[in-house]
Amino acid sequence: MNYHLPRIALVSCLSIFSIGLFAQTAPRTGDAKLTEYWDPQVRIITPGKTASDAPSDAIVLFDGKDASKWKSQKDGGEVRWKIEDGALVVARGTGGIQTREGFGDCQLHIEWRTPAKVEGESQGRGNSGIFLMGKYELQVLDNYNNRTYSNGQAASIYKQTPPLVNASRKPGEWQTYDILFTAPQFYADGSLKSPARITVFHNGVLVQNNTTIWGATQYIGTPNYEPHGALEPLALQDHGNPVAFRNIWIRPL
Ligand code: MG
Repeated sequence: MNYHLPRIALVSCLSIFSIGLFAQTAPRTGDAKLTEYWDPQVRIITPGKTASDAPSDAIVLFDGKDASKWKSQKDGGEVRWKIEDGALVVARGTGGIQTREGFGDCQLHIEWRTPAKVEGESQGRGNSGIFLMGKYELQVLDNYNNRTYSNGQAASIYKQTPPLVNASRKPGEWQTYDILFTAPQFYADGSLKSPARITVFHNGVLVQNNTTIWGATQYIGTPNYEPHGALEPLALQDHGNPVAFRNIWIRPL
């Protein structure tokens, strides 16, 4: 009796496999055109020569020379950060800067460099930040051989979610963030309909994978949502360290 068992099992397996194979390869009848659609046609753009270059439909926020798309957060006037060697460099004490235009859902590319001369430690070393909608901070920090709290290190959603890995380059080297941001949505009564979400590649490495943002960044206490407009300015932080930025472009989605 036992002798026949493996054979029965084998035959059963083959039968199930054959049925599966038949189901997959059985020809379908009907009109293939019923599952095609041609309109609207997909918009044609020209990609950059490299992944860092702005594609043709991006808004270039800083091209190495012109900071006119930004204003001071202190007084709304001209940006008082320095433009040096094609980079926009934080001038300590002049305050953060923000775009004149507002943005919601977007793809953002931004390059940043912390000072080659290492000074300070933990949060005091090469600190700046990218504030999506002026409220949700993606941390910029020199985290090369610099331990700090995990949810405050480079590529963290500050005081919320640490990056999946620390993909930091050495101080003085240019680094990239490629960001996909989905803005939060609010009901008419101001209550939260859906939280913001963010995906980030740091130097090409996935570090935030469709991460939920729990509210506006708070230094002290828990984050919370306050209703705001669908489009809000993008901001860069003056945390007192001369962090440089270049090649900043955005694609509203
Ligand atoms: Mg910061």
